[in-house]
Amino acid sequence: MSTVTPMMQQYHEAKAAAGDALLLFRMGDFYELFFDDAKIAARLLGLALTSRDKGENPVPMAGFPYHQLDAYLAKLIAAGHRAAICEQVEDPKQAKGLVKREIMRIVTPGTLTDDALLTPSVSNFLAAIAHPTQGDQAGLAWIDVSTGRFFAAIFPARELPDQLARIQPAELLLSEENVNALEAAELCLSITRRPAWAFAYQAAVESLANHFGTLSLDGFGFDLRGDSAALRAAGAVLDYLAETQKVSLAHVDRLLPYSASERLAIDPATRRSLEITSTIRSGHREGSLLGVMDRTVTGLGARLLADWLAAPLIDVVAIRARLDAVAELVADSTLTASLREALGQTYDIQRLLARVTTGRASPRDLSFVGRTLAILPKVKAKLTARTSPLLQQLEQRIDLCGDIRGPLEQALVDDCPLVARDGGFIRSGYHAPLDELRELTAGGKQWMAEYQAAEGLRTGIPSIKVGFNSVFGYYLEITHAHRDKVPADYIRKQTIKNAERYITPPLKEHEEKVLTAEERSKQLELDIFAQLRELVAGATTRLQATANALAEVDVLAGLAELARSRSYVQPIIVAEPVLDIEAGRHPVLDITEPDGTFVPNGIECRARNEERSTSELDHSSLAPRASILLITGPNMAGKSTYIRQTALLTLMAQMGSFVPAKRATIGVADRIFARVGASDELSRGQSTFMVEMTETARILNTASSQSLVILDEIGRGTSTYDGLSLAWSIVEHIHEQIGCRTLFATHYHELTDLEEQLTGVRNYNVAVKEWQDEVVFLHQIVAGAADKSYGIHVAQLAGVPRSVNERAREVLAWLETQHEINLDESELPSVNGRVGRPASGQGGSPSSHWQMTLFSSDDHPLLDEILATELNDITPLEALRLLHAWQQRIAEERATAK
Ligand code: ADP
Repeated sequence: MSTVTPMMQQYHEAKAAAGDALLLFRMGDFYELFFDDAKIAARLLGLALTSRDKGENPVPMAGFPYHQLDAYLAKLIAAGHRAAICEQVEDPKQAKGLVKREIMRIVTPGTLTDDALLTPSVSNFLAAIAHPTQGDQAGLAWIDVSTGRFFAAIFPARELPDQLARIQPAELLLSEENVNALEAAELCLSITRRPAWAFAYQAAVESLANHFGTLSLDGFGFDLRGDSAALRAAGAVLDYLAETQKVSLAHVDRLLPYSASERLAIDPATRRSLEITSTIRSGHREGSLLGVMDRTVTGLGARLLADWLAAPLIDVVAIRARLDAVAELVADSTLTASLREALGQTYDIQRLLARVTTGRASPRDLSFVGRTLAILPKVKAKLTARTSPLLQQLEQRIDLCGDIRGPLEQALVDDCPLVARDGGFIRSGYHAPLDELRELTAGGKQWMAEYQAAEGLRTGIPSIKVGFNSVFGYYLEITHAHRDKVPADYIRKQTIKNAERYITPPLKEHEEKVLTAEERSKQLELDIFAQLRELVAGATTRLQATANALAEVDVLAGLAELARSRSYVQPIIVAEPVLDIEAGRHPVLDITEPDGTFVPNGIECRARNEERSTSELDHSSLAPRASILLITGPNMAGKSTYIRQTALLTLMAQMGSFVPAKRATIGVADRIFARVGASDELSRGQSTFMVEMTETARILNTASSQSLVILDEIGRGTSTYDGLSLAWSIVEHIHEQIGCRTLFATHYHELTDLEEQLTGVRNYNVAVKEWQDEVVFLHQIVAGAADKSYGIHVAQLAGVPRSVNERAREVLAWLETQHEINLDESELPSVNGRVGRPASGQGGSPSSHWQMTLFSSDDHPLLDEILATELNDITPLEALRLLHAWQQRIAEERATAK
């Protein structure tokens, strides 16, 4: 039977405490992993897999030098692992027996604080969901431990996916009890299950009160009863942090309430479709709206910009306040440039502060705080005497913190080291006792040098030299060749390969002085360092407020720079649901396409239910406008670009940005819905059509007259008949029931008939020039319906072989004649005395005729049924069944009609 060594015993105990985290076990200058952890690490980190206790039961082992911890941790975390760092907590020299070890922290994707593991421009949120115990209000809390920003709120449970898509947490805490939170889980990379008690109300209130040192949370704007789910989620977050961080988190100094009702609502599908923070294809930030809009010069600013863009405003006054600030900065480009230059010299005080309060700051971190504070007077001065109330407010919020800056500047040397242990970072002249100790150390070293020279002369051994080791301190080393010249007062301590080492009484006497002085001076530096750290930590609240103000100034100045460099205009923001944009450009293509190639397009649109009497706008000059724009045109003409552009400009305006256009009046939207493309869903194993319909159902059920809806090719995922009928009835429903601003891009030409039937619908198409059988896309949106599909032309453009194209033309011609022959129009019911519109210039297509039968009679029972179906109350499967039943009935009806 094999016995377990005491060290392995210690390892197993730590491993049990680490749970599912990989255990990095400190052994001297290495972190070692054992057993399965070693195998995982060897594979992920490319480490050599060796074994310990070679013999009967070898233990797999892999490790790396301690100073490479950051680099290896980053890889483990990126691969979705958690890592428990188990340190030696006593000096091995002083340990009796086995060195004591303890897990100092558990690093998880959502709890990173080390700069090496974080991206400066990206927030790193840990979130927790507390599911409703009654009713449907769920609690959501989220924190960026690297900056201390901590939020909590309640949301209807069905809105959780929206919120998670906005926050994009790196890690999500869910109760073990709640097994069907899968939908929420899908949006988040890493899920951590926590025991149910961690989400209990009483435990939460206690841990919050403990952490913030207050008995009530009223001061933070929370109502203990109404917001109990929010507090339960916040409690679960704090509990998890206590378990993984094991240090004080004093930088988390408040819990901020978050009000979704003050923000533009954007669901996950819309976020994806509009590529707000990442592109659909690569998932990267480059090429997204955020990617092109980010002109910030600080990490704080970049993170805040992402927050603003993820949750634009809906309050007209608040939006105008931001826009006015940007306008003032645009007008004074010299001011903006110098502001940005000053901001660019600051360091990320949010993240520095987090390291200071958690005790992980280095001397360099502290000196960076000092240097940042030194820039503040310049920033503040640039903001004084501004007209914009927001800029004035920001100026007020910058606290120069002179009481902190002074000591930091006086105490710390210019080029501070990354570790405090070895000293050398406190300026001479700052602290008299430290200066004395340093002189003693230096003097002692000077004495050693002189002693070596003197002994060389006395003994006639020129090669004699003073050395030092940790076993017996300073010694004199003499090569074996000079052994016979060694004086009698030398005491031999050690023989090495080609020399002997000796000590002498004078050497030992001075050693004492040098060593103690050096030790004491290092210790003194550490003490001063700790005091400085305390000083900074004590100003957490002021520094946080200042950091937040700097972030905001950076965002506004970045927006001003963007507006100036790309010739954007300040949008006029109004409360009425209108859109009036002249020569708008797609913000991303405007930048990524070669200059001057993007074709600008305008839009005029007004929600149907808008009350004109309360309008701030002068309507006399405005013709009645469409609420629904139907955009037809061949593939690749620019339909989706145009409709996305409209949504993006609205979003930009509502977050406070100027927009790429000649002129823009934008009525605030309460929600933006974009249902564009479905290719990215296929990989998730859902049918495209099902996804499309689920999302469409959501739009129809939640859009208000104040919303903006953009729909691209709805109904494409099913048969032509199904798709067309659905598209038709969706447009009707939006027109009649919702009345909101809608852009509907479609290749169903039959839909253009709706213009004549519904007052708010207008047809537009993308201009195309035909020249000798070739098609040129002009990318220009013009009034009227497109009259051809050009599918074959597009195939030609895409490089489909000529023979296939030619054959396709033949088949098309044949199909068109077939329809003419087969259709006996007189048998089909007409609409308003008209028979279906010719589909392509010659005779009606079967689809247009049939769909008239269905939709022209307002009281067709099937229509009522479709309309009465509560899409939210039925499961996807039931929806499919219903659809199938309807299809059958229609087929039967058609058979009887014939
Ligand atoms: P559709 O939705 O009609 O199939 P897209 O909107 O996807 O077409 O546009 C196809 C391509 O045409 C885009 O990738 C873009 O390169 C180009 N494009 C679209 N709109 C414009 C425009 N206004 N100016 C210049 N190029 C455009």
